[in-house]
Amino acid sequence: MAGATLALPSGERLPALGCGTWRMGEMPARRRQEIAALRLALDLGMTVVDTAEMYGDGATEGLVGEAIAGRRDQVFLVSKVYPHNATRRGAVAACERSLKRLGTDRIDLYLLHWRGAVPFGETLAGFAELMRAGKIRHWGVSNLDAGDMAELTVLPGGAACATDQILYNLSRRGPAFDLLPWCRARHMPVMAYSPLEQARLLGKPALGEVARRHGASEAQVALAWLLAQEGVLARPKAATAAHARENHGAAALSLDAADRAALDRAFPPP
Ligand code: NAP
Repeated sequence: MAGATLALPSGERLPALGCGTWRMGEMPARRRQEIAALRLALDLGMTVVDTAEMYGDGATEGLVGEAIAGRRDQVFLVSKVYPHNATRRGAVAACERSLKRLGTDRIDLYLLHWRGAVPFGETLAGFAELMRAGKIRHWGVSNLDAGDMAELTVLPGGAACATDQILYNLSRRGPAFDLLPWCRARHMPVMAYSPLEQARLLGKPALGEVARRHGASEAQVALAWLLAQEGVLARPKAATAAHARENHGAAALSLDAADRAALDRAFPPP
């Protein structure tokens, strides 16, 4: 198992730790290793797989499709629509292209990748049509701030938003100021992307110190810090089996008050 689970507003529970896929499927020489890493992550219970039509211009969805072939029912599949495709008809067409690349008949959670020029009402109409057709099971958004969320969720159907996927990690604590409390008040989990700050967090002395105290790795400490927070799901990207296994180990690591204080000194909260 990947440790703790969190509930979507619908009540459906997801493992708190899942898999990112950005930059996977872009280099043929790495394909086998990336597929093996994703399959190991699924074996370990990290069954939420996050991808997007943008990644590798569709190549990443193709790789995800290959990795989950034969085990679709085990996976909670997340993909994202480009803002410029997120009109009522455009979202439906983009989703159908994603389904084809992913080799499946449904996406479990379909996100608006970021806010663009298309009015939210148009996008919501597309998501509603996809829900009625059973092509997506939930919908949500990404990269929306608290003001955007307030605007979205008062629209007809907007309150059904399942999540906001946001940049959130030890060195990007801004969302803790306003967005996280807003989401928590609505029982809406956030999905933390770039939880390792694309590996740039690794090597920071404070992380190393806490990691040594626990006989853990720096990546595990950064992930454990996220997982300890109410309503936060984390999606590290691991392109090797060793990284996937190591990240899975974060679920068993619990940080104490002294660890948290040391991390707060090195990465001050807003
Ligand atoms: P990340 O997960 O913070 O970092 C990935 C980097 O960390 C890769 O270089 C990876 O190396 C390395 N890594 C992973 N596990 C490691 C470990 N245990 N030890 C050492 N290094 C490790 O960055 P991310 O890919 O930007 O974010 C995660 C996912 O969030 C993405 O893949 C994507 O699905 C999603 N995302 C969404 C948005 C959005 O706008 N919604 C934006 C960015 C990302 P290897 O590749 O060699 O394993």
